[in-house]
Amino acid sequence: MTDKKFEKSFNLKKVIAEIIEPKIPVIFITILMLFIFYLVGLFSLFSSILFGSVFIAFLLAIQDPEQSYYFEETSDREYFGASKKLNDTNYLEILSDGIKLLPDSIFIIDSNETIVVANKKGNQEFRTSDNLETVVGLRLPNLIRSTPLSDCIKDIRLLKDSKKIEIILPGQIEKSYDIFLSKISSAVKGEFNIMILFRETTDLKKSINLRSDFIANASHELKTPIAIIKGIAETLDRYGADDLANSKLFLSKLLNESDRAQSLIEDLLSLNQLEMRQHLLPDIKINLVLIIDSIFDGLSDMAKKQKITLKRTIRKKRYLMLGDEKDIKKALINLIENAIKYNRENGEVNISLEDNDRQILLIVEDSGLGIPPGDISRLTDRFYRVDVPASMAVGGTGLGLAIVKNTVIRHNGTLEISSELGKGSSFKLIFNKF
Ligand code: ATP
Ligand code: MG
Repeated sequence: MTDKKFEKSFNLKKVIAEIIEPKIPVIFITILMLFIFYLVGLFSLFSSILFGSVFIAFLLAIQDPEQSYYFEETSDREYFGASKKLNDTNYLEILSDGIKLLPDSIFIIDSNETIVVANKKGNQEFRTSDNLETVVGLRLPNLIRSTPLSDCIKDIRLLKDSKKIEIILPGQIEKSYDIFLSKISSAVKGEFNIMILFRETTDLKKSINLRSDFIANASHELKTPIAIIKGIAETLDRYGADDLANSKLFLSKLLNESDRAQSLIEDLLSLNQLEMRQHLLPDIKINLVLIIDSIFDGLSDMAKKQKITLKRTIRKKRYLMLGDEKDIKKALINLIENAIKYNRENGEVNISLEDNDRQILLIVEDSGLGIPPGDISRLTDRFYRVDVPASMAVGGTGLGLAIVKNTVIRHNGTLEISSELGKGSSFKLIFNKF
């Protein structure tokens, strides 16, 4: 309704500005001459009015062939206030200008599926390398491989004017989008383009999935320690006063189990937080040497208690990267704690930092129990623990390496695990250098 009104008033304004206004001097002179003719008696009043009306109507009816004043079927140019006929180039420029700062990624593709217009967000989000400034000129299927999207474009071409689909684009970090497609006119008569808007819904989808996963995992894992705590509390309640020696034992068990429940909840919460922020690249400069220094003291005590020698091989003072200090710290604590926990008496743990032109290599290596080859690929799954007695004897929730993996992914890095049973393990983290 509002659109129609807009079209009408817009058209009337245009007619006044482009047809009537330029002819006002001629109309004025005509009326003046007719008035003089009437005064000198050459024309009667009636014939002056008649002659004047016919002449003015004729003047207004003459139309500049370069100008179009009426909405035609392919007159999208009119919406942009252009008065002259537009060629393809400036038609696309006007479209591009209109969408350039919108917050969603928007592309316009031609009949060959080549991107002819892309807004700022679209260029940033979908360019294939940091050096590529614009995706204009690339074919959409080469940029975004998605069968549902291709099918939808076919549909728009043959059947529909607009459509909405939801897609998930795979990658190191999966992203989901709501996509809106709409047929729009091309400046070339008889052809049309398709405008495609990508609205990212990763956050929304993730929070919905995470909430239900989190509740399922947390309640399942918390059942065991809570059942044990309840059992111990009931025993203490019944027999505690009569058997003081055993009460002490039960109390320390109670403490252990409540500690376990607490660290389970903390780990689940940080994993959940990490997964929520996984697609947001950290942008603060951090120095890995300082982070290792800050965690070394606390872990040295733990190592001493377990008779493990904790060493570091760090040659430079600064190994800089863009990162989230809190997350990196948590991941490193877990790796070093694991190397101490799953070690043997008088074993060793070494933390080393190296770099090349582009990358930083951080290695946590131990001379401990090692990991059976079949378990290595599953170590970073939530709650996965290696089912060998020596490993199981050590307490843990099985969430530490899942947190490490998510931290590494969030920092655009890679995690490589190698191990030899009975000899030791090595966890390599590779990050881009700042
Ligand atoms: P949490 O870290 O949550 O307290 P956790 O240490 O059991 O518990 P992860 O850090 O995820 O959990 O480790 C998963 C499993 O991988 C461990 O239970 C252990 O069996 C094995 N593992 C991890 N690191 C090592 C290592 N350095 N040497 C031998 N086995 C290891
Ligand atoms: Mg651990």
